[in-house]
Amino acid sequence: MKTVTLPSGEKVPALGQGSWMMGERRERRSDEIAALRAGVECGMTLIDTAEMYGDGAAETLIGEALGDVRDHLFLVSKAYPQNASRKHLAGACEASLKRLGTDHLDLYLLHWRGSVPLAETAEAMEALKSAGKIRYWGVSNLDTDDMEELVAADGGACATDQILYNLTRRGAEHDLLPWLGDHDMPAMAYSPVEQGRLLADRTLATIASNIGATSAQVALAWAMRRDGVIAIPKAGSIDHVRENRAAADLILSDADLATLDAAFPRPRTRRPLEML
Ligand code: NDP
Repeated sequence: MKTVTLPSGEKVPALGQGSWMMGERRERRSDEIAALRAGVECGMTLIDTAEMYGDGAAETLIGEALGDVRDHLFLVSKAYPQNASRKHLAGACEASLKRLGTDHLDLYLLHWRGSVPLAETAEAMEALKSAGKIRYWGVSNLDTDDMEELVAADGGACATDQILYNLTRRGAEHDLLPWLGDHDMPAMAYSPVEQGRLLADRTLATIASNIGATSAQVALAWAMRRDGVIAIPKAGSIDHVRENRAAADLILSDADLATLDAAFPRPRTRRPLEML
């Protein structure tokens, strides 16, 4: 499995598994558990979740699905902005740990920026690290100016920024992705297949059929083509998980990348970071 290096030097898989919308429907539960387990078995050991997803239901599902293989995982969760304070972060983290059935997170993220000062969130994250509750911390949905502010506010230990990045959401290529690269911080690309909407695209389908791949694989391989990008697709079936896993071994040709550039051009000028 291709890997991406964290600022600490530790390597994590470039392809993980998302979990938004998981654990919310009883009739899908066994398929979702099987999908998560299959993903881990084939190397997609980075699991992304959040206290927000299903109001804790996704974390509970992951705890149930992967409790026995916890030591093989790189477990990522996120705190609501209103919980990212000196007063509330430890409690939010403890609740996530309980649902996940573990005693620590590998990475804990601020889900998006709210009214708590970034310096306070950084301090609260560092306290959790010192207490052994988390190994690393980071942020999500922060644009370049927010990242500058974070680093200036004693937040230099931030390990990543999880952002919306896929063929139809290329704004971050202007300055955020280069900024992260300059600071040795990987980006985690969320919604890498645009929640499934990308998969109906004709150009993607044509490239996929020419190289014996699927549209999802081409979209994921495109996101992972850049060093320092971790893609975290969510898949609720074993078939989708296995299909996605193969994308980590797919290298797109220069000609295919040029075709994709033409079909999905990056915005001409800088735009604020989009989020879902
Ligand atoms: P994705 O782009 O990962 O798309 C998920 C959808 O694509 C699901 O409907 C899934 O269907 C489908 N899909 C996945 N693989 C395939 C495949 N091989 N073939 C066909 N369909 C496929 O969207 P998400 O929004 O879920 O993003 C991924 C993860 O990123 C989230 O689950 C979450 O963990 C994280 N995230 C973080 C955000 C943040 O603010 N930090 C915001 C949004 C997401 P099926 O389930 O049937 O397999």
